[in-house]
Amino acid sequence: MHSKMVKLDNGLPVMYKKYPIDSFSMVFVVNYGSLYESKKENGIAHFLEHLLTKQTKNIPSEKLKNRLFDNAIFWNAMTGYEQIQFLFKAHKSKFDTIASTLSDILINPNIDEKAVRLERGPVITEMRGGDDKSPDAVASSKITRAVLGEHPATFTVADSMRALRNYINVSKVKDTYSKYFTPDNSVLSVTGGIELEKMLPVVNDLFGSWSGKFSGKTLSPAEYLPPSRRTFRLRGVDESMVVLGKGLPPASKQNYDDVNCLTIANSLLVKSLMLELREKTGITYTPSSDNSHMTSFGINETSVSAFSPKYLNLIENTILTEIDKLYKGEISHEAVEKVKENTVLSGLVSLGEESFEIAEELGMAYAVLKDPTYPEALPHLFESITMDDMRRVCSNHLNPDDFSVVVLKPYKKC
Ligand SMILES: [Zn+2]
Repeated sequence: MHSKMVKLDNGLPVMYKKYPIDSFSMVFVVNYGSLYESKKENGIAHFLEHLLTKQTKNIPSEKLKNRLFDNAIFWNAMTGYEQIQFLFKAHKSKFDTIASTLSDILINPNIDEKAVRLERGPVITEMRGGDDKSPDAVASSKITRAVLGEHPATFTVADSMRALRNYINVSKVKDTYSKYFTPDNSVLSVTGGIELEKMLPVVNDLFGSWSGKFSGKTLSPAEYLPPSRRTFRLRGVDESMVVLGKGLPPASKQNYDDVNCLTIANSLLVKSLMLELREKTGITYTPSSDNSHMTSFGINETSVSAFSPKYLNLIENTILTEIDKLYKGEISHEAVEKVKENTVLSGLVSLGEESFEIAEELGMAYAVLKDPTYPEALPHLFESITMDDMRRVCSNHLNPDDFSVVVLKPYKKC
């Protein structure tokens, strides 16, 4: 069965897809995240996510924790660049309980002095324990800086120690909540073994009276620095790593074929890097290569962690050589077909079996692309890609001279 989209009278879009299973998945997406923050405010989105999931006006902290723990198979909340997500999976008999808990979390938050004071501690602990200083995060933020200059994407989502001390208070948090947490700026996505006829009246009852109109700011597409090979060599991290990256058109200006061709090109790159580097050094590496498209910016990023710093130059040159081959159209038809087939098959598997993934994908497809059909159209879009598409997209987007390079070198150990 295909997915459906129903809009409540207050403007809340509800995505739905039925699966013949005993569980359901529920994902709530709000279009607000750390890219909306200035340096001074950095971390307020993450802080708000914490406050909301801690307690509500009607449910004290202990009771909320117990209710989720006792009824959900899984639940989580996450803050990203452009969205905050609340995710739940539970047995279908628990639908009313989970839905009413989520609506209370969203509609009746308890934002007061005491709650704000008590939540600073857990957020600081999470920041200290988090891996924002990991080689991956350091390299990624450098690449973003090379491509975008001073831009909120170079801040970390949760790195709010300064904001936490000097900026975040009850009125700032309340103001942010009322501007962005509104039905017309959110998406609710429900998939699994719950009937539409049973789900919709419950959802309407719980979320339909939620009022409020979006009055926050809208992200505008980022301005990229002129493409050039900026190279950063950093010491003092505990892993050797090479990361290459360049800017891409944001989702608001993208063409699906371009994105899908780049996804295939990134897979080809991972495969060829694995073979080349093993051939040259006898060591297996785990390269990764991705193109990410936010509403307001996109970045293509390829990284390889090195076993030893003595291979860093070799790795840098090998990545550039392999990108250059794609750029010049030296692409094997057979390899492209294999990636296409695999992507189509894994897409069909997750569409058919993974109700949780599809709940998230449906919600995000609507939040980012305003296109609820995208996840289900994806296998067909992949199948229709031709070699001409591949060559056109690679020559448009993968000029190796446009990639900035970050090389991380650890201190010598004695
Ligand atoms: Zn957190």
